[in-house]
Amino acid sequence: MSTRPSVLFPLFADLETLDGVGKKTSQNLAGLDIHRPRDALFVLPYAGVDRSLRMSVRDVSPPMTVTVKVRVGLHRAPTRRGGPYRVTVEDAQTTFAIVFFHARPEYVQQQLPTGQERIVSGKVELFDGVAQMVHPDHILRPEEADQIPAFEPIYPLTAGVTQRTIGRVTAGSVARVPELAEWIDPPLVAREGWPDWHDAVQAVHLPAGPDDLSPDSAARRRLAYDELLAHQTTLALARAQQRKIPGQRSEGAGILRQNVLDALDFDPTGAQRRATDEIVADMAQPFRMNRLLQGDVGSGKTLVALLALLTAVEAGGQGVLMAPTEILARQHLNGLHPLAEAAGVVLEVLTGRDKASERAAKLAALAAGDIQILVGTHAVFQRDVAFADLRLAVIDEQHRFGVAQRMELGAKGEAVDVLVMTATPIPRSLALAQHGDMDVSVLDEKPPGRQPVKTALVSVGRMDEVVESLRRAIAQGRQAYWVCPLVEESEVVDLTAAEDRFKRLRAVFGDDVVGLVHGQMAPAERDVTMGRFVAGELSLLVATTVIEVGVNVPNASIMVIERAETFGLAQLHQLRGRVGRGSAASTCLLMYQAPLTESGQRRLEVLRETEDGFRIAEEDLSLRGAGDVIGTAQSGLPRFRVADLDRQAALMDLAQRDARAFLARDPDLKTERGQAMRMLLWLMEQDKAIRLISVG
Ligand code: ADP
Ligand code: MG
Repeated sequence: MSTRPSVLFPLFADLETLDGVGKKTSQNLAGLDIHRPRDALFVLPYAGVDRSLRMSVRDVSPPMTVTVKVRVGLHRAPTRRGGPYRVTVEDAQTTFAIVFFHARPEYVQQQLPTGQERIVSGKVELFDGVAQMVHPDHILRPEEADQIPAFEPIYPLTAGVTQRTIGRVTAGSVARVPELAEWIDPPLVAREGWPDWHDAVQAVHLPAGPDDLSPDSAARRRLAYDELLAHQTTLALARAQQRKIPGQRSEGAGILRQNVLDALDFDPTGAQRRATDEIVADMAQPFRMNRLLQGDVGSGKTLVALLALLTAVEAGGQGVLMAPTEILARQHLNGLHPLAEAAGVVLEVLTGRDKASERAAKLAALAAGDIQILVGTHAVFQRDVAFADLRLAVIDEQHRFGVAQRMELGAKGEAVDVLVMTATPIPRSLALAQHGDMDVSVLDEKPPGRQPVKTALVSVGRMDEVVESLRRAIAQGRQAYWVCPLVEESEVVDLTAAEDRFKRLRAVFGDDVVGLVHGQMAPAERDVTMGRFVAGELSLLVATTVIEVGVNVPNASIMVIERAETFGLAQLHQLRGRVGRGSAASTCLLMYQAPLTESGQRRLEVLRETEDGFRIAEEDLSLRGAGDVIGTAQSGLPRFRVADLDRQAALMDLAQRDARAFLARDPDLKTERGQAMRMLLWLMEQDKAIRLISVG
């Protein structure tokens, strides 16, 4: 089935094929992202109006929407231009007025002929203490009363699209919904009490009352699940496709790993062991690994990466570790070099800063297989870099790399196992949405003996006190970071602020004590300053957010963040993660500009309350919404129409397990349910997935 099934044609036809929809309306509907009847099915009402028939307007408290049967009385045309056209009407108990402005008298007379009965529905208001209904929403003959739903759904609107239009478009689209075979696992449908797809679509557009508008209604949950299932099936197909790519079995006795573990002065955490086992097992499989290692700052991802790289080496191949910045690449080199040496493995670094002759020598050694582990920046993936037998690519701090780069990298080696590491704890629902095509290992445990970081909120008005306490701490041999405000998304503006702060702090503490690093600096210069801080020659490092990712200076125990309210929660968490790495008690001062907004206050308080990156991420998600937490466009995160990632993480989880388990049984979607799933993929426009099955 590589073309759309004909049963879906009516739903994918032009909007103009719907009754009462012309070119203009069709164009306007694009404002609601409705391009075909199918799209209208998933634009759901967000509210409803009670239009059940009442006896009289007398007992309601205006303003309120009321539906009543009336007998039409006298018409009174406007006495001045632009004045109201009034029609007196009488319901079962009282008399009131129906009012029109700028109406053609013939139109009103035809709608409301004196002496006849009509059902009118609209908002009743008081005008000079008298009830009146201005421009009724509905005027019908008594025998047409059933055309007004007792509970009328209210849809989101856009320019040129009224409730009446969208109501018509939706009704026409819903009428085209065919009966389709069930694609959800039947026991799940039964357990959840979900209607079938056809009935669910009908139900969401014909709500009987406010309960039916809730995202927790059975019909809406089912439609949300459909969306998530289609998405997860696509990802699961992509994953299955990946796993079909023949990979190399990389395995060995684990002697190199053991050498490293023996050389450490600490034991790996349970989580590090678990993750390593998962990775080693995956690398031993004959298909390509595509795995995410998720672990909060300081959870010890680097060690896991090294153990994985050693597995590639032990299997007779090479491994590469790519870091997003020069500083980080160098830091990895410094940290890993002694360990590699202990294992008897050759480890080298390659960055954009190697001299031509140096670079040529390294490339030759790599091609000959004499370098076994290569650490570097994205320079390691330049075209002229060739490996003798690359088996594993580890990408550190992947959120600094786009999805596209991740893909590019997979193309480098034919069958290279890929391990992506991220310290950005993202809520499970987002992780599933974003990385459902990957396998995930989680470091959910931190190395023991870490002291909690004491976090305090301080207004910038107390700058002098902060500087004074820094002075005392530095006198005691402690080191501190000072992160400057993120004024705008512009390094240049940040820089001015940072240089300014640097000068002032240097005036207080002295030249030999304070350093400055920022993104505009020449990398070599930045490394020198970083190096002096790492070596303890500098006590205070003023920085823009370049230090955000990965930097490790265990003796640094104070983090000052200026204008903390301008940073994202995840970023603040990352920054704070730079301290609390040694044995000393650490402090993080979040300096804010008063007054804080309510949500600004709440955000900073979350940080004070917890150091758990996942909890912070969940809070961030609930405070900001999914789209903002990770920029939607670049994240590859789909925009769901019905499903709500903020609230339906459990459904997403279920969808992933369902999709993966099903594909394990029916990889080509050939069974009866498999065929139904194909229909779902067509319906949900998962073209990518359809291509995957077509070629597979
Ligand atoms: P991240 O996950 O943020 O990349 P790192 O790998 O940089 O964390 O580790 C942070 C620090 O913790 C490093 O100094 C590292 O040597 C140390 N470390 C890693 N694993 C352990 C462990 N099991 N016990 C004690 N210290 C550890
Ligand atoms: Mg790291």
